[in-house]
Amino acid sequence: MTAQPFYITTPIYYINARPHIGHAYTTIVADAIARSRRLLGDDVLFLTGTDEHGQKVERAAQKAGIEVTAFADEVSSAFRQMCVDLGISNDDFIRTTEPRHHRAAQEIWRRVMAAGDIYKGHYEGWYCTVDEVFVPETQLVDGACPTCGGKVERLQEESYYFRLSRYQDRLLEFYRQLPDFLQPDFRFNEIRTFVEGGLQDLSVSRTSFTWGIPVPDDPRHVMYVWFDALTNYLTELGFGSDDPGASDRMSRYWPGVTHLMAKEITRQHAVYWPAFLMAAGLTPPRRIVAHGFWLMGGAKMSKSVGNVARYQDYVGVFGLDAVRYFLLREMPLGQDANFADEAILTRFNADLANDLGNVISRTVTMLHRYRDGVVPEVAPGTRTALDTALVEAAATTIASVRASYDTFQMSVALQQTWELIGLLNKYIVEREPWKLAKSPASAAVLDLTLYHAADTLRVIAALIEPVMPQSTVRIRAMLGTPAESWTGLAPASLQAGTRLGPVEPLFPRIERTTEELRAMSDTSTPAPVPTTEPVAPVHVPVTAEAPAAPGASVTAGPELISYDDFMKVDLRVARVLRAEQVPKSKKLVKLAVDDGSGERTIVAGIAEAYQPEQLVGRTVVIVANLKPAKLMGIESNGMILAGSAEGALPTLITVDGVPPGARVR
Ligand SMILES: [Zn+2]
Repeated sequence: MTAQPFYITTPIYYINARPHIGHAYTTIVADAIARSRRLLGDDVLFLTGTDEHGQKVERAAQKAGIEVTAFADEVSSAFRQMCVDLGISNDDFIRTTEPRHHRAAQEIWRRVMAAGDIYKGHYEGWYCTVDEVFVPETQLVDGACPTCGGKVERLQEESYYFRLSRYQDRLLEFYRQLPDFLQPDFRFNEIRTFVEGGLQDLSVSRTSFTWGIPVPDDPRHVMYVWFDALTNYLTELGFGSDDPGASDRMSRYWPGVTHLMAKEITRQHAVYWPAFLMAAGLTPPRRIVAHGFWLMGGAKMSKSVGNVARYQDYVGVFGLDAVRYFLLREMPLGQDANFADEAILTRFNADLANDLGNVISRTVTMLHRYRDGVVPEVAPGTRTALDTALVEAAATTIASVRASYDTFQMSVALQQTWELIGLLNKYIVEREPWKLAKSPASAAVLDLTLYHAADTLRVIAALIEPVMPQSTVRIRAMLGTPAESWTGLAPASLQAGTRLGPVEPLFPRIERTTEELRAMSDTSTPAPVPTTEPVAPVHVPVTAEAPAAPGASVTAGPELISYDDFMKVDLRVARVLRAEQVPKSKKLVKLAVDDGSGERTIVAGIAEAYQPEQLVGRTVVIVANLKPAKLMGIESNGMILAGSAEGALPTLITVDGVPPGARVR
């Protein structure tokens, strides 16, 4: 089987701004798509880079008092660094200031000129220097630019024009032949309506500045930035060079390209670019995918509003994979989404720490505890409906995740994967391996359960790989399984006898308030990485006899604590699995509880209030991060919460209907 070529691009980023979360998002989306295609065995070419010409860059460099080339080098390298920081698997990084790109842009110009689709004229109009576009009079909003709200200036200059007006019918015919040319559909409709409304010729050169690619045979003109920038997608393939491999590259990767971008540059990609290519005798791109904007507090992130999130701050606190997960999960393709600290914190603790992190540590821990860290053999014919349902769900999820990637719906793919994680959690809870482990008669069922839990995790690790490649590596290290592609991925194929690696916390919960997060992003100083060390209990009872700390307040009543102090106490829901009276003790009961990540022993002073058998099956609240203590020779890990009136017996606090491991706050 020969590998299918798959060429994907981000837009090249304009160097008037430093990279922020918006650039990070586009690049991560492209990266996830590229990785998924590699997993499917495709021959992937993934390109990103920087767009460096134009008046705005020239002016910014002047303002900064440095050479424009030095300015371009500096900002471009920040984008290159972004790719490193975000674990981007791009095959190349292109800069429009490179000689190879000058050659390609001049070559396409010559071809379009030779076809008679470029002519010289005069242009006069309202020009926005921020967006580097002439704005038609009818689109001005109160005399200002409709895109950025900035001032527009009247500009008249000699200019070359591209005969875009000639391409209305050909573009509409092209759209008819490729009904999935532009995703999402509603944006394709907007573009069609725009083209149906008639097209005006496009000014494609400037004489008012010099920072650009000279027009062939008329170096007083530099190319208008879009004519220059869009050509980068061909530069990558060697277009315009005399490199002997160039034509092979062109025929291999063109026109089957996927251009990914934010929605505001859809028109340039879906209208101008195909028309330029048609004029040059080339086939337009196969596919345009336009995503929405990240909003902050309901407004588009923008430098002038000052609500731009720095990806570095979030990667510093949550880790790279968590940020990649949040961005791809939170924004359905094509829609706008809100970037909120609360949302990322919730997703981290709920989806990653609780759902994914717990099921992994629980499964791997049990395999170590009950099967010496080796994946057991499953005895033939022991599978029940419960196991079959899990295997079938995994197979269905593999197929549906692949289908979601086919249409670039990574948000849906992650949702589907998390449904499987939920099912696996239920499967474990239902089987109760910690109970099975007590009885030698249940050994075969325990083998079966642990095998399928580990096997399903193996599938999950593969499915999250395009979005969370580092986590996949770490999960595989714990499972002891090798890297695997998506082509042969199937459930129930884990090798029995596989030796597991040690358990490590994958996503330790982040006990941090959104206020702390906000303070962090306001100052742009990375906050310390969360520690995985257990937090010492802080709830020391204050009694009348206790000596007052120096400078302590003398106000009567209980001491007030902050929300953060409260959050240091890790209150969790746990289910009582077994209970027995501690011998020679009137008050103490020894309990085995399921805390969501495994089993733990707690000794509680409730024997006078409850018979041990009354306790089994109850869902209680425990202090999960209490320092271990020995009571009557038994190590107690945590404390069970109970209420008691003065002189009365304690009554357990129970929370029915909440799964073990859930946080109480
Ligand atoms: Zn503007």
